[in-house]
Amino acid sequence: MPARLDEKLEPIFQDVLHRNPGESEFHQAVHEVLETLGPVLVKYPEFAEKKVIQRICEPERQIIFRVPWQDDKGEIHINRAFRVEFNSALGPYKGGMRFHPSVYLGIIKFLGFEQIFKNALTGLPIGGGKGGSDFDPKGRSDDEIMRFCQSLMTELYRHLGEYTDVPAGDIGVGGREIGYLFGQYKRITNRYESGVLTGKGLDWGGSRARTEATGYGTVFFTQEMLKARGDSLDGKTVVVSGSGNVAIYAIEKAHQLGAKVIACSDSGGIIVDEKGIDLATVKRLKEVERRRISAYTEAHKHAKYVEDGNIWSVPCDVALPCATQNELNGNDAKTLVENGCIAVAEGANMPTTPEGIQIFQEASLAYGPGKAANAGGVATSALEMQQNASRDSWTFAYTEKRLEDIMIEIHKSSFETAEEFGSPGNYVLGANITGFIKVARAMDAMGLI
Ligand code: NAP
Repeated sequence: MPARLDEKLEPIFQDVLHRNPGESEFHQAVHEVLETLGPVLVKYPEFAEKKVIQRICEPERQIIFRVPWQDDKGEIHINRAFRVEFNSALGPYKGGMRFHPSVYLGIIKFLGFEQIFKNALTGLPIGGGKGGSDFDPKGRSDDEIMRFCQSLMTELYRHLGEYTDVPAGDIGVGGREIGYLFGQYKRITNRYESGVLTGKGLDWGGSRARTEATGYGTVFFTQEMLKARGDSLDGKTVVVSGSGNVAIYAIEKAHQLGAKVIACSDSGGIIVDEKGIDLATVKRLKEVERRRISAYTEAHKHAKYVEDGNIWSVPCDVALPCATQNELNGNDAKTLVENGCIAVAEGANMPTTPEGIQIFQEASLAYGPGKAANAGGVATSALEMQQNASRDSWTFAYTEKRLEDIMIEIHKSSFETAEEFGSPGNYVLGANITGFIKVARAMDAMGLI
């Protein structure tokens, strides 16, 4: 059972349920934030009077459109795409595009809502938005991906701009897709507007360390949580779900900081390699050959592949969910706690169910919610926008250092806010309140818009 809401907040939540029927992920994301805002309304009653929370829960703009495209055999397909421009109090809407068959409005709204507070936490001038399509890129040729991206951008371009809305990647959208999307935007607008998309290639306006940023940032955040408890990642055993962009670079940074990652996964199953996951193999399979993780055992006979296996049953000190929403439930959380796990940091967005979060909090393990722990990706996207605006290109070392400093600061502000509001160690409360207050103050200053 999710926690009860404060009496001022319950009617707001009921209104969200009523106005957004059938959008269960969005309801979950809103509930998780509202659960922690009770003490804020006591300290800042003006936010209640001015209905700031009700305004934040309603996107500024939602765009839904048809994307027709032809496959390599000439057959016509129709997909649906979304862009939810949620909140621009702190800057242009910023948030990735997701291509996955599960995408519908409720998923994009949950991601966009989370993005508002995450982006505020970075301390950089970016608002919150998110987009995507129910298009399934699996098994599609490069040409098919290109035609789909071009068709999508033929409608989306009119809603974007470096001062308006700046998308990036997410599940199913990486460097290849950003390239096709940027190419079509440039062609239609006749403008080389680098700052309109982030996650670009290094030769044409991309930022060093952007590819690595979300995974690296999640591990920097984990290191900070452990430091706050007088511990570190050195010598720890780690389990990482997924084997996409976030998972790969979480594994890389965990290894660099002296931990051993012994398991990763994809939607087909899990790989357990007690000697430590060989990242070169995972990169080859996922970034170059675009194959399933099961092929890992071809090069590493000692490793074990379990089809449909549960990665959270693999004993570990640290767990990093880096695949998708609601991938770690109450039973999984119990198993992790029983196996002696001391820290969980979310590379993915909302991967832990409300029951799972409650179990982690009751067990007092270090639990870093996605809003804080995976904010390094969007933070580095904002650094990419800075480089584009100044026609500059920073070194890897400098950009990575900026990323690390931002993650240290996000940890510090979440940690201190949790103490200030009487819940020491509660990073969910700390991150939600820190992000919310920044956005609420800006909205208040700008009047009723
Ligand atoms: P990605 O490169 O497409 O990788 C996603 C990984 O998760 C793949 O291994 C995929 O396996 C697995 N996965 C996806 N849906 C799944 C499902 N329903 N069940 C089981 N496994 C599933 O995507 P990504 O960019 O790494 O994103 C992963 C998570 O991080 C998402 O929650 C995303 O919102 C979040 N995130 C990403 C960024 C970023 O910068 N990319 C920033 C912040 C947060 P298959 O290949 O088998 O589907």
